[in-house]
Amino acid sequence: MKKYFFFLLILFSAVSDELTVTYFANTISIENLQKHLSFLASDSLRGRLTGSKEQKIAAEYLAKYFQENGLKAIVTQNTSDSSFFQSFYIKKYFGGQHSIMLNPTNKMRRAKNVIATENVIGFLEGTDKKDEVLVISAHYDHIGTKNGTVFNGADDDGSGTVAMMEMARVFSEAKKQGKSPRRSILFIAFAGEEYGLLGSEYYTEKPVIPLKNTICDLNIDMVGRIDDFHTNQKDYIYLIGSDKISQELHELSERNNELFTKLTLDYSYNSESHPQQLYYRSDHYNFAKNKIPIIFYFDGEHPDYHQPTDDVDKIDFELLKKRTQLVFYTAWEIANREGALK
Ligand SMILES: [Zn+2]
Repeated sequence: MKKYFFFLLILFSAVSDELTVTYFANTISIENLQKHLSFLASDSLRGRLTGSKEQKIAAEYLAKYFQENGLKAIVTQNTSDSSFFQSFYIKKYFGGQHSIMLNPTNKMRRAKNVIATENVIGFLEGTDKKDEVLVISAHYDHIGTKNGTVFNGADDDGSGTVAMMEMARVFSEAKKQGKSPRRSILFIAFAGEEYGLLGSEYYTEKPVIPLKNTICDLNIDMVGRIDDFHTNQKDYIYLIGSDKISQELHELSERNNELFTKLTLDYSYNSESHPQQLYYRSDHYNFAKNKIPIIFYFDGEHPDYHQPTDDVDKIDFELLKKRTQLVFYTAWEIANREGALK
């Protein structure tokens, strides 16, 4: 009898965990995704070029949003005040190359060929495993304007940015309702991605939380569109890198999708021999090279990639919501499971 009761208890608690995560996943809102993307990818933000006035307007928007949603500012850079901004400097070379500056002097910062920019970082503290941290990331910079034409970057990577924002809101709301994640979650909007993954490179060189406590990065870069291979079956997403460092992460991701979101997980770009080499081409790679398990979420290639036509009206918001939910379910389990990822 006792044994039977215990079994039921486990069963009920598993069912109630599923109900809880589903309840919160269902609060991910198309309206919110639309609202934020319509701002970030509007002509007035002029393509969010790293270092531009408009990139800084986007940064302010993100910081204010983190604040309003109860995330903590934890970046301290040579001051005792903590901030949502992690400032860094980029050196621009003749010929169009860019690199981060690790310890620039004041004089070096003022040089003509130096770009000042910032990552935006919001922290949600966990409970009994709060020293372990999950990163959820997306880059919010894009490529600016050319000859007066705005490259809006709605998919690249406005879509990932608003997915990350919406998850920050929902995890924070869960915490307010007594369902805090056990581990902490760091929500990062990276700058400088389009210049060569520079925001994430800077972050992993100067992490706000030690990399040894960083258990995973879920990186979202373009998740609002459908490519030519999936016009008849649009409920899909490409996953890259999930099995490279932690097989457990890969299995957990598959299981959550089977249980909840039921998207087709396409691993075409995951192969080491794929000519696009996407594993090396977004911000997750700077975590992966430090042996931190990652998943890169990606919607594929489309003719509007890095074109002025990467606009909000081409985003499939229903699909963007489903893909955000997949990341959310995966994040929820990583943040709440008993053991660390192996
Ligand atoms: Zn991108």
